[in-house]
Amino acid sequence: MEIARAAIGRGEWQQATNDAEHFARTLLQPVVNATGVLLHTNLGRAPMRIARDARAVNLEIDLESGRRGSRQHAVGGLLARLCGAESAIVVNNNAAAVLLVLSALASGGDVPVARGESVEIGGGFRVPEVMEQSGARLVDVGTTNRTRLDDYRRVISPATSLIFKIHPSNYRVEGFVEDTPVSELASLGIPVVADIGSGLLDAACPWLPAGPPAWLQGEPAARQTLAEGASLVTFSTDKLFGGPQAGVIAGSSELVERCARHPLMRALRPGALVLSSLHEVAMAYLRRTVTESVPFWTMATTPVATLRERAHAIGIGRPVDLEALPGAGSLPGITMPSFGLAIDGDHAAVLRRHTVPVVTRVRDQVTYVDLRTVDPIDDAVVAAALGSLAA
Ligand SMILES: *Cc1c(COP(=O)(O)O)cnc(C)c1O
Repeated sequence: MEIARAAIGRGEWQQATNDAEHFARTLLQPVVNATGVLLHTNLGRAPMRIARDARAVNLEIDLESGRRGSRQHAVGGLLARLCGAESAIVVNNNAAAVLLVLSALASGGDVPVARGESVEIGGGFRVPEVMEQSGARLVDVGTTNRTRLDDYRRVISPATSLIFKIHPSNYRVEGFVEDTPVSELASLGIPVVADIGSGLLDAACPWLPAGPPAWLQGEPAARQTLAEGASLVTFSTDKLFGGPQAGVIAGSSELVERCARHPLMRALRPGALVLSSLHEVAMAYLRRTVTESVPFWTMATTPVATLRERAHAIGIGRPVDLEALPGAGSLPGITMPSFGLAIDGDHAAVLRRHTVPVVTRVRDQVTYVDLRTVDPIDDAVVAAALGSLAA
């Protein structure tokens, strides 16, 4: 209103609606993700359903004793159980988890990192820079493509605080490559911290009736990484875990406790809203209701036949086979079979301006609507948006 009034005040009547609409598009609002990228970083990664009343929550009170408790206790306990860890805590994201671990456990000490793992992940998360912030000294190990246990042995000294292993989740080096598995690193007698990144809890995916899908192959999982001997793992909860943005530190209770007591913890701790929704997602894993109640896993496990039926029901554009991507820099080069609609021409901008914006992918002057990332209740929105193109 105010923006429209300002334009009218300037005597620019024509401009009033334009200005108001332009402003409306800068506001945060629900959009339909028809890109086929399941975890689209620009669209908030894992989509979430949030149902919450206005009541208070027992964030830091022990309901048994009535005494002050820890906000980490409930969610940390569930996450620890889910990945087979002694203990776990939650911070704002995985970058915060890594920063906290290195600050609490390695400040002033040496941290060997394989040269092939000294990577940049997403905008601004660069291993050498996070290391510098934490006050730990990065010690390069091996070569870009190959690093063996002996390379680690050579750099270890009494100043070594921990060994840091990072899953280079957003790219892949193929050919003459070799890294040192956690199981071997654990034999060196120094705590191994593994940043597994994507938050796959268990490689066996016990929450999926059909077991692990083919596209997950090779993705490190929290439970197995800890079982192989890592003292701690860190991961994001808005990637393959399918929850809100947060980061988890899970593993040895002694090391987790040292992280929890570090002064940075206060600056990195999430609020009640995030912890509650993380709690809900963790409960869905424990109750084995993930495929119905965690949108990421619902999208990832929908059969192509169902997507094909939905495409035909929408009935606008050409039904086409497509390939969807996990996204969020996870599983580079991996696709999952998908289905959707193709419309000749580049209609991305018009579809983004629909009442409920529809975000699509355009390739070679063809606009693609991938239904794997569209909630079926939004098929009507997609139909209306595509219908408006024809009109
Ligand atoms: C995604 C990712 C990060 C960054 O995680 P955020 O939760 O976005 O901070 C760090 N390390 C790895 C290996 C990742 O995959």
